[in-house]
Amino acid sequence: MKHAGSCHCGAIRIELETSRAPQDQVLGACQCSFCRKHNTRAFSDPSAKVVITADNPHAVQLYEFGLKTSKQVICNRCGVYVAMILIDGERVFSVLNIDTLDDRALFTQSVEARVYDSESATERIERRRKRWTPTTLVGWPN
Ligand SMILES: [Zn+2]
Repeated sequence: MKHAGSCHCGAIRIELETSRAPQDQVLGACQCSFCRKHNTRAFSDPSAKVVITADNPHAVQLYEFGLKTSKQVICNRCGVYVAMILIDGERVFSVLNIDTLDDRALFTQSVEARVYDSESATERIERRRKRWTPTTLVGWPN
């Protein structure tokens, strides 16, 4: 099933392709301070694929904090938090803010609170390689 989404202004667009039904997807509520301030419902599925497309490289604002093992993707124009990405050599993995999807209301699972504070940077990257969604970035800043 394909799902389309975007930030509020449309400068960053999302195409998600997953074989699992929306109501069966697992949603997380990461307890880090960044995710709590956005009240993010986080989505990842290692068997899915996502393409995140920027109208132009200036549409993308990247933010890092803590261990700086990932980057938060925020629209530079409308301020919507879109996704968290891990650049892993040639590969990219992401967790989506599921509420950026047009059909977000189909994702009805209650969120699981998740605390990752005790992880080392190495453990964190290893978990993301296993659990995050393989991702293609288009129109992205270098
Ligand atoms: Zn925007």
